[in-house]
Amino acid sequence: MIHYKSNEEIELLRLSSLLVGKTLAEVARHIKPGVTTGSLDQIAETFIRDHHATPAFKGYGGFPASLCVSVNDVVVHGIPGEQVLQEGDLVSVDCGVMMNGYVGDSAYTFAVGEVTPEVKLLMERTKESLYLGIQAAVAGKRVGDIGFEIQNYVEQFGYSVVRDLVGHGVGKSLHEKPEVPNYGRRGTGVKLQPGLVICIEPMINLGTRSVTQDRDGWTIRTSDGKPSAHYEHAIAIRETNTEILSSFEEIEKVLESQH
Ligand code: MG
Ligand code: MG
Repeated sequence: MIHYKSNEEIELLRLSSLLVGKTLAEVARHIKPGVTTGSLDQIAETFIRDHHATPAFKGYGGFPASLCVSVNDVVVHGIPGEQVLQEGDLVSVDCGVMMNGYVGDSAYTFAVGEVTPEVKLLMERTKESLYLGIQAAVAGKRVGDIGFEIQNYVEQFGYSVVRDLVGHGVGKSLHEKPEVPNYGRRGTGVKLQPGLVICIEPMINLGTRSVTQDRDGWTIRTSDGKPSAHYEHAIAIRETNTEILSSFEEIEKVLESQH
């Protein structure tokens, strides 16, 4: 069953989503060669708790950390730890918070120092595909319209869309109905109606779409070892427009100040 949100609930979801953006901006300040992924997780957890919220990922299905930190060929669900970031890495950071009973969930992919032009393009185009998906997410259209736009855009570059993991509804729980695949056919799937709040999160691979899971039960990697990028926004479908509840603004301010 899909839970459509009231205006009050959407405002609470916005607050949680914005805290995720602020947390990711705080993480962004510390991403550089030589830092461990575990130290980023510590920074995020402290920041979230300082803002009277709790990390939504920690303990979710047994996940041991506040962030998913996914480096290079890791698509998503990387467990932060001893891994040291190196110049030229790309690192996807996914963050969830629970505040006032509502979950925020958003992700951004960062370059560690200078990445190759090929990787930079993968990042830019994956982010662009997210916004194209959001543009298609308006009341009256269907979930398949979102996936179609994302897939249609990225496949022209020879990239592939991960099929095994998808976006999702979000609310009091991290993962609600409906599933929001990043591939699909126009005019298919669940109809988008006012009050629907979903996370759109394209996971786009430079090579094959095929992925494997590590023995840790979490880490998802590309089968060919090529890099993958991941961006995620939470959005609310309204009668006449669609609102992005999360924000990359503070993250991108930090990134600009680093140049
Ligand atoms: Mg996420
Ligand atoms: Mg998500």
